[in-house]
Amino acid sequence: MEAADLIFRNIRQLITCAGPAPRRGADQGAVPIIAGGALASLAGRIVYAGATSDLDTEVAPTPRAQIIDAAAHAIVPGFVDAHTHAIFAGDRREELRRRLAGATYAEIAAGGGGIVSTVRATRAASEDDLVAVTRPRLDEMLACGTTTCEIKSGYGLSLESELKLLRAVRRLSGEHPLDIVPTFLGAHEVPLEYRERRDEYVRLVIEEMIPAVAAEGLARWCDVFCETGVFTPGESRRILNAGARAGLKPRIHADELGASGGSQVAAALGARSADHLIFVPADGIAALARANVAATLLPAAAFYLKLGRFAPARDFITASVPVALATDVNPGGGFSPSMPFAMTLGCFAMGLTFEEALTAATINGAWSLDVADKAGSLEPGKLMDAVVVHGDAINLIRVGAASIAAVIKHGRVVSGGIADRRSSDPKVGPAGV
Ligand SMILES: [Zn+2]
Repeated sequence: MEAADLIFRNIRQLITCAGPAPRRGADQGAVPIIAGGALASLAGRIVYAGATSDLDTEVAPTPRAQIIDAAAHAIVPGFVDAHTHAIFAGDRREELRRRLAGATYAEIAAGGGGIVSTVRATRAASEDDLVAVTRPRLDEMLACGTTTCEIKSGYGLSLESELKLLRAVRRLSGEHPLDIVPTFLGAHEVPLEYRERRDEYVRLVIEEMIPAVAAEGLARWCDVFCETGVFTPGESRRILNAGARAGLKPRIHADELGASGGSQVAAALGARSADHLIFVPADGIAALARANVAATLLPAAAFYLKLGRFAPARDFITASVPVALATDVNPGGGFSPSMPFAMTLGCFAMGLTFEEALTAATINGAWSLDVADKAGSLEPGKLMDAVVVHGDAINLIRVGAASIAAVIKHGRVVSGGIADRRSSDPKVGPAGV
């Protein structure tokens, strides 16, 4: 018998998204729905996920256990958002209004807007400022069901300001319920002062930033924006190789605005993930499949940037490339913190089934970040990170409706709440309020 201090019984739909991770090809969508499921945890770790009929022979509630009847709810794993730029200062919403009124990105950039304005504001902000403005973004993500996220640096673009961003991420990681996986993205853009001497900026990233980030243990991953006009495939390889030598594993922005060669770089370096991939060529898909690289797709970015097309998600599934989904939260085009919205676009703009999208938002996102040993699925031994949905799980794609009843992180209700059938018992009390 396993002891449990949090127990859900009679769950209308339990979808565990259990591994092995990643799920690819036909397995991406082959996640069973358990009707009448049960889920139990002790001190934030799952001890049981299965049928309610077997619960009482497997699990013994602790004296103060919360026992919740979930006949009106579905439960899915907490979402893993594998690609965000959530740490930045400044505000570009006025720019958004201008874009909607017809201004081009080039016109906005010529007026001092775009990424340059975020870099200016971020450099001017203190570490305290960055923590303060980012905290509510993380609260929003949590309320939308995200329990683990990646955050990249990349709006500092100088040694000190990139370190400042990653130190702020580390502080947030310590104080916020979300589990945060930090990524160094000094090669997000060539800053204005290096535009005429870009080689020197690449040298700065390789010789100064990466060693400093590694020495402080501030990041687990190194990322590069490999795109025409930003970093070439050759520069991307040099930077990612330098990162790998310093212990920062490679991932890459690839083929977002054109066939940049990024997917081939990802495959050649054995990156864990290639991200965006809207313009990935056929040989890029084949290369990712051979090299066992995840395709982390960000359809909300394509949507808000009005790119007019989306990554070929079905082609990745057919080629057995594991597909993950992420929000791309950022100041210029990542306006939605919602993984359910990314899932919805995954379904309606990229042709995924609901189950494929759910897998992409959970276990495959966890694999993309190399945290699938503890997050991304509801399995004994893993973290009790879960999303409780009103009614059926597919209600998650009713964008804008309040489909999420509660979000559970490490076995605690951190957003929303669920009425407890035994809430009249003063020893138990209502869950999550
Ligand atoms: Zn990005």
